[in-house]
Amino acid sequence: MDSKTSRLRDLPSVDAVLKSNEAALLLERFGQKAATAAVRLMLSEARAELKVGASDPPSTAKVVERAFASLANDDRSTLRPLFNLTGTVLHTNLGRALIAEAAIEAAVAAMRDPVALEYDLSNGKRGERDDHIRALLRELTGEDATVVNNNAAAVLLALNTLAGGREAIVSRGELIEIGGAFRMPDIMSRAGAKLVEVGTTNRTHPNDYRSAVNAATGVILKVHTSNYRIMGFTTEVAARQLAEIATEARVPLMNDLGSGSLIDLSQFGLKREPTVRDAISEGADIVTFSGDKLLGGPQAGFIVGKRELIAAINRNPMKRALRVDKIRLAAIEATLKLYRDPDRLAERLPTLRLLARSQADIAAQAKRILPAVQSAVGPGFSVQARECQSQIGSGALPLDTIASFCLAISSNSGGLALERLSTDLRRLERPVIGRLEDGALILDLRCLTDEAAFLSVLANLNSHDPA
Ligand SMILES: *Cc1c(COP(=O)(O)O)cnc(C)c1O
Repeated sequence: MDSKTSRLRDLPSVDAVLKSNEAALLLERFGQKAATAAVRLMLSEARAELKVGASDPPSTAKVVERAFASLANDDRSTLRPLFNLTGTVLHTNLGRALIAEAAIEAAVAAMRDPVALEYDLSNGKRGERDDHIRALLRELTGEDATVVNNNAAAVLLALNTLAGGREAIVSRGELIEIGGAFRMPDIMSRAGAKLVEVGTTNRTHPNDYRSAVNAATGVILKVHTSNYRIMGFTTEVAARQLAEIATEARVPLMNDLGSGSLIDLSQFGLKREPTVRDAISEGADIVTFSGDKLLGGPQAGFIVGKRELIAAINRNPMKRALRVDKIRLAAIEATLKLYRDPDRLAERLPTLRLLARSQADIAAQAKRILPAVQSAVGPGFSVQARECQSQIGSGALPLDTIASFCLAISSNSGGLALERLSTDLRRLERPVIGRLEDGALILDLRCLTDEAAFLSVLANLNSHDPA
């Protein structure tokens, strides 16, 4: 018998591994079926290694350890929490707004138990799903309201209701695309509205709208061009004037605010975005905005405006397909309630807390954690603390950045090592996402709230050989 065959014989059996003391935790965590499959796989890999000349068969403990690591890796959710150090606070690809604790608690309670979603507790009759947030939105905006899946749905539903089979007038300068597949002209055609473009990309005048209005006009639409700005020789028709034109023509004016805010953000050191109340006081009959942008809640689309228009929107059969579930309604209600106490909003609403965080605070953090980060990435990289600019994200105020502080990691051996570092950071138990910029990996610390967790995750980074 040659030594290779004897080494193969030394390999434990699947049964022996599973019956060992070491396997107890494996079985406990993953169950009989998955544990057996993983052990079988590890043993067949070990057999293959022995056949190509590996010297020693792995011990039972080693087989269990490999099976555990493999199952634990498969078990990790691709939706697990990560560190957003991109510098974009409302990052659409990273899930936008973080939900306030009060809203998380409300959502969890609604998930766990039955709730009076469409049930009127005062009389025991059927109730309205929207009623949980309608009064609150009226309190905050002064108008009637309804809520759907997201703002794209809000725009779709409102346009279909107001201008389905009719014309929707919009300025060429406002026919925007907002990342992904949201293009205003496409949404309009899917809403069954015929797009009537007026003006030019940079200039639109009141008479452009006036001469486009006719008996087939269903709505005049104003879109807040939140994610780009045309500069130089430009004219747009102010909302107030557009409202006069709409009133004359007896058609509703709809204003898609996108990231509409419920409060004036300038009190938190940010630039002023038009608020929902502004849009209404300027004469919009319908205003649409997102739940998970500046508002800081879960994904949702709000439609606020004139009572009879909201009623027509609620009668539209499409509403049923676009409605939100009890979990999000509970979170929305709790989020909106926080706005009743503006003084404590920045404390309670994570989005606002992150946006309002001072540069000095972030700089102090950068200096504090620099040595630990330098030691985690190893001597092949150099880490520096320096100023950078954060963005709000989600199309809000893209040109108005917020002064922040970052750790800039550069490689002593070129860009490839930096890309490998980015990859390793993404593979961590809790992934770390930065941005590559000007030959450095930038970790903007504005959104780093759990510093201890970050440092402990980072300690598991395999140090790099710069070669
Ligand atoms: C973001 C945005 C939308 C889409 O909102 P979602 O909530 O992402 O569906 C529509 N219009 C404008 C102007 C926006 O900024």
